Order: sequence, then structure tokens, then C-alpha cells
Amino acid sequence: MVKSSKKIYAALGIIFSYIVIYTFLHGINTDVPNSYNTHEDEIVTVSSQTDDSKPIIILDAGHGGVDGGCSAYNGALEKDINLSIELSLKAILETFGYTVEVTRSTDTSIFDPGIVGIGKQKKSDMNNRLNLFNKYENAVAVSIHQNQFTDPQFNGAQMFYTETNPLSQTLAQTLQNTFKSKLQNNNDREIKNAGKDLFLLYYSKCPSVMVECGFLSNKQEADLLLSKGYQKQVALTIFSGLNEFIQANYNQPA
Ligand SMILES: [Zn+2]
Repeated sequence: MVKSSKKIYAALGIIFSYIVIYTFLHGINTDVPNSYNTHEDEIVTVSSQTDDSKPIIILDAGHGGVDGGCSAYNGALEKDINLSIELSLKAILETFGYTVEVTRSTDTSIFDPGIVGIGKQKKSDMNNRLNLFNKYENAVAVSIHQNQFTDPQFNGAQMFYTETNPLSQTLAQTLQNTFKSKLQNNNDREIKNAGKDLFLLYYSKCPSVMVECGFLSNKQEADLLLSKGYQKQVALTIFSGLNEFIQANYNQPA
């Protein structure tokens, strides 16, 4: 008896959690069905809200393959941290019902086959990343990187954007605020308009942001960024800000 009541409570707990998450994501469902039968041979279509308003999320793990990005004191490479955070973030987003595409899911550069020469490969790689950013009418893109500076005292996450899409600045500010409130209370960095300096953001049509998660040139922060636990916290922080941005700026299905 005790065992079976435990089972019932566990099942109720799972159902309750599902309802909470579902309500969080979708709100109270007041959708009118797409269509309903009034007679056997007559279908009346009524207006309804669909899930179309929810953007596809494009995630970009910076660098990859021969391009390691910047490096930490112990030789650890930026490209690997970027990938780990990207894959954690993808998993979280998908758990919460988002459709996600990534520029890379392994340690690779995504240049077209047959291209020779590092310069040309890099150009092709960046073009392919941009093509994914601009593949969908309704998308939001997040590029994940780690920072580096000559002075090792600098630390903290910073968001970069361009004015190509007017919502990019809002996205960057929301994420910057989220890093400060949830992960780095002492972070007083301000979002930065990168202008033409950041190819991907400058030519991206959708709202997009580059998240510089922290400085590999700062030993303390590098140690954090190299730990799996902290990488997951960073992913969760990005998710939280991204989800808030989407809830505030897109028509969520009722
Ligand atoms: Zn980078």
C-alpha cells in the first residue's frame, strides 16, 4: 500500500510538473480550433493563433576545427568551451519546446568541401554560418564566444550587437541584465554596438547577439569557464535571458 501510494504521488508530481512547465510555456490554452464541422460536408474555418510566431533559435559555437579561437593559460581552447555551452543551451531550449539549429555540433570548421587555404576556408565557414542565421523568416540567433585581453584582470560576460535588426539591441540588453542578475552580480559591463566589426551580426537579418561569456585571459574566470558545471550555468543564463526576450517581443500562442 505504501509503495503504491508512493507511486501515485510520484505520478501526480510528474503530471503537476508537466502542467506547470506547459502553462509557463504556452499560457492558459484558449485557442479556437482551426476548423470544425458544422455539417458533414461543410467545414468552416475560423481564425486561430498558431505557433508560427515562436522564432527558431539558431545557435553558433564560435570557431572550430583548425580555428581554435583564443586560449587559456593552460592551452585550453575557446572553440571547445563555445561548443560545450552551445550544446547545453540547445538541450535546454529543446526541453522548453523551442526548435533549435546549430552551426556546428562537433569540433569542425564548416567551410564548403574542396576549398583550399585557411583564409578561403575561414571566409566560406563564416558565409555558411551567416546562411544559417538568414535561413528562416522568423529566427533569433546567438553566437557564443569567449573573450581575451592583454590585461588579465578583466573579467565578466559582455554582449555585442549591431543595428541591422532593431531588436538585436533589446536582445543584447536583456541577456546582459540576466548575466548580472543570475550569474555575475558584480558585472557592470555594458552592451556594445559592434558595427561592421562583427561580420555575422552585421549581415544577420534576424535579431542576433554575440555572447562573450567571459575572459580566458583571467585565470579565475578561465577555470570557471573550463568547468562543465559553470558551462551549464552559463547556458542556463543565456536560456533565461533569451526566453524572457522572446516572451516579451513575440506573440506567444495563447
Ligand atoms: Zn571567439
